[in-house]
Amino acid sequence: MIRIATLADTRAVEAEMPLERRWTARSLHEQLAETAGRFPDRPAISFQLKSGPGDRALTLTWAEFKAEVTRLANLLRRLGVGPGDSVAYVLPNGLEAPAALLAGATAGVVTPVNPLLSPDAMAGILREVGAKVVISLCPFPKSDVANTVAAALAEAPGVDYLLEVDLGRYLAPPLGWVARFLGKRPAHRHAAKVLDLRREMARERSDALDFAETFDDRFCARFHTGGTTGLPKIAQHRARGILYNGWCGSFYMFTEADVLMCPLPMFHVLGAYPILMSCLTSGAQLVMVTPQGYRGEGVFDSFWKLIERWKVSFLITVPTAAARLMRVKVNADVSTLRLAISGSAAMPVELFNRFEAATGVRVLEGYGMTEATCLVSINPPFGERKIGSVGLPFAYTDLRILRCDGAGRVTKVCGVDESGEICVRGPGVNTDVYADPEKNRGMLTEDGFLRTGDLGRLDADGYLWITGRAKDLIIRGGHNIDPAQIEEALMRHPDVTFVGAIGQPDAHSGEVPAVYVELAPGASATPEELLRFASDHVAEHAAVPKHLEVLPELPKTAIGKIFKPELRRRAIARVYGEALAAAGRPETVVEVAEDRRLGLVAVLAPGPGGPDDAGVAAVLDSFLTPWRWQGAEH
Ligand code: AMP
Repeated sequence: MIRIATLADTRAVEAEMPLERRWTARSLHEQLAETAGRFPDRPAISFQLKSGPGDRALTLTWAEFKAEVTRLANLLRRLGVGPGDSVAYVLPNGLEAPAALLAGATAGVVTPVNPLLSPDAMAGILREVGAKVVISLCPFPKSDVANTVAAALAEAPGVDYLLEVDLGRYLAPPLGWVARFLGKRPAHRHAAKVLDLRREMARERSDALDFAETFDDRFCARFHTGGTTGLPKIAQHRARGILYNGWCGSFYMFTEADVLMCPLPMFHVLGAYPILMSCLTSGAQLVMVTPQGYRGEGVFDSFWKLIERWKVSFLITVPTAAARLMRVKVNADVSTLRLAISGSAAMPVELFNRFEAATGVRVLEGYGMTEATCLVSINPPFGERKIGSVGLPFAYTDLRILRCDGAGRVTKVCGVDESGEICVRGPGVNTDVYADPEKNRGMLTEDGFLRTGDLGRLDADGYLWITGRAKDLIIRGGHNIDPAQIEEALMRHPDVTFVGAIGQPDAHSGEVPAVYVELAPGASATPEELLRFASDHVAEHAAVPKHLEVLPELPKTAIGKIFKPELRRRAIARVYGEALAAAGRPETVVEVAEDRRLGLVAVLAPGPGGPDDAGVAAVLDSFLTPWRWQGAEH
């Protein structure tokens, strides 16, 4: 660990030696072997299925974890997974997900899949990556994963094997022995051969890989994005970029004495790379609680007691979880806790202050993304923390604020405090960002900077400030409105917990701002009151929302980001429904669907007289969002 405090320190680290000399491992398995060699008996990963501070937990030491990963990698190779073949895992948190990540990347190319996806979306990902083996759960009480995976496999005939994990091992006997028989049997048939993961692993050697690894820095992982701006895309990662995340974590802050509590899923880069790989490099202990992490039953209520139980030194959070957490009184000895690290979405300054005041825990905010193999920047743990900024670039990562034309050519390199698109070049940025070459067009500038689609500025000290997302801009009559200015203004209202601003279709201006709000529990602000507050606090007149709605809960992704496509769907359905009704038309909006080519499309049910194209066109064709008749996509 080194005490980096400023951009000058960062540059000095880079000048000292090239990145290639910073670590020796050439693959994830080599890094695991190295750490297991240094700290064989120290705890590596702990997991408890239930959230109580006294509930049963299992811990693997680094030597045991290495043995598990080695066995699983050998098994995958026996099942025919070669260096170019895909293995997917559809697993909630547990000891198996990290093992599957490392073993999959060692034997082949690993793809973690969100277990909450629909069977169709899951099947689409399995087909796109060409998965040969899937690792998932066997039936288990209160879990629908086995059924969803079976339905997905029915639509992904290329999968040869399904390796099943029995979560019963995390329960005390006799319940642990019988739990799998209490789960719902999948209703779908598929052709993949079903094998028991533990039984098959027991047949493999654990002391060494059965095969020689190739050290050509091939793509060894493919992660699907959260799809917050459209359908999920599949980004691909090399060992170098993945190991870089681990190096950053251990170089900047973690040692083997640390304990990281990560209630985030292992199918998103934040949990998988900065957290798991940092433990893998530093020897720190990773603690996971419940298969669903923050979403697990009772997790928030026992949270501080869990920190005490595991003597956690770093807490990994996201803004939505922090907002929920600050409402739980600190009722335990949390003196081991050094910092909370937040990423994945902007932590509003208000939330920052409220969280720190309520919990007494300092928050460091960082920035990363799936397309860059995650880590980009962080507020330096030993330097000035600028609240609202995502900090300094990690060593060996370059940041530029650029303006590009429609064809992706750089038209301007922005100066200090000048806003533009955040562009990143570094060890995790690959030329082929996505697995689908079609999607890579225009992703990189000529000199290899990844265009993030995020907007921001660099201040005089080199700190990055994210001001919005190019892809989320509201375009009102050709005028660009950053939704962040609306969201930040409303966050200042004491009753407001979350805000999502989007552009809703408008016949005159193309889009106008609409905003959705989630209130704090027990709060009672009305939409009228909040709209008044918005018009008093949103600086720019054009950005004052035209519509404001309070929802019991805003739609969020598995990593806790506000899921704006869902808000856009709601807005389109409402605006089109109102426009049709105002024109006296009998048609209704049945849903707003996502079309691969067109994006969001309003789907209409015809009136009793049948489809009337001209009648609907007269009302809806002045809006930009396309529409179609129900059933017309087939
Ligand atoms: P993902 O690939 O799911 O990790 O999403 C990456 C995106 O999340 C980035 O491009 C940003 O839009 C957003 N993001 C990540 N971290 C932050 C942060 N600290 N503040 C604001 N936005 C963030």
